[in-house]
Amino acid sequence: LWRFWGPLSALSKVYSQVLSAMASAERIFEILDTDPEVTNAENAKRLPAVRGDVSFENVSFRYAPDKPDVLHDVSFNVRAGQRVALVGPTGAGKSTIVNLLMRFYDSTDGKVKIDDIDVKDVTLESLRQQMGIVLQDSFIFSGTIEQNLRYGNDHCTEEQMIQAAESVRLDRVVAGLPNGYDTELEERGSKLSVGQRQLLAFGRVLLSDPRILILDEATSSVDTETEQHIQEALETLLGGRTAFIIAHRLSTIREADVILVVQDGRISEQGSHDELMQRGGTYANLVQTQQQMQEAVMSQALL
Ligand code: ADP
Repeated sequence: LWRFWGPLSALSKVYSQVLSAMASAERIFEILDTDPEVTNAENAKRLPAVRGDVSFENVSFRYAPDKPDVLHDVSFNVRAGQRVALVGPTGAGKSTIVNLLMRFYDSTDGKVKIDDIDVKDVTLESLRQQMGIVLQDSFIFSGTIEQNLRYGNDHCTEEQMIQAAESVRLDRVVAGLPNGYDTELEERGSKLSVGQRQLLAFGRVLLSDPRILILDEATSSVDTETEQHIQEALETLLGGRTAFIIAHRLSTIREADVILVVQDGRISEQGSHDELMQRGGTYANLVQTQQQMQEAVMSQALL
């Protein structure tokens, strides 16, 4: 049995490099643009404002020429606004799929397309501007709440900032801080709880208004009230955007429009929860096992 719903994956090394570079308050896109692995094609165009359709066409990938393939012939189509849950054991290739979508790496074979445009044909900056990422441990740098919210969103007005904070229920957190939006946070954001940091990250991404969202669902537990706020804020954030969620919770997975079951670098099953349950394959078995385990735990607790 996989550790299916448990802590599945930390996103790959690239993110931590990018995020620690962010600590020095440089702009994320500048750093990414200097990534030697991926560069703009000679005649790269700007990616126009997208609807958010995403397709992988027979994508294979290896991290280095002398390494084995970690993705084999991966194909799927996602329509704009759909929610996609990536599930599967650690090391299966979920983060790699996301890495290729954001073009942290280029596919070895096959194509990754957004609105039918090959991501290799567009500039990295224009591609990544239309994407937002929320990681498990939300990144906070030293500066005020306002600076953290405006990070990468310099053009926003004060009103837009406050509106975004309200939409993700961050306003209540801010109201409880000594200097409101001007409260200074230390690096890693120690003045805020894990859940509050997550709301701050949601606010930042909401302000940048990306069409495509990538989310590594948090596994760390927060108190029930914060949890409820996070779920509500998440709904606001997801609203209408194409979302790729490296999902850990059965509830998130159930509600996804498309579940991609990733095993050994292949998509072994894809479909909605109902479709996959009917199919009676790996996914259905895991859900059933999970339910039996829960029932066993419950009956133990009642003894
Ligand atoms: P998941 O997100 O499902 O846990 P990953 O996409 O992180 O899986 O990993 C897929 C495979 O690629 C694993 O075998 C992993 O060891 C390998 N891998 C991940 N990142 C790198 C990297 N930067 N360099 C080399 N191999 C990597």
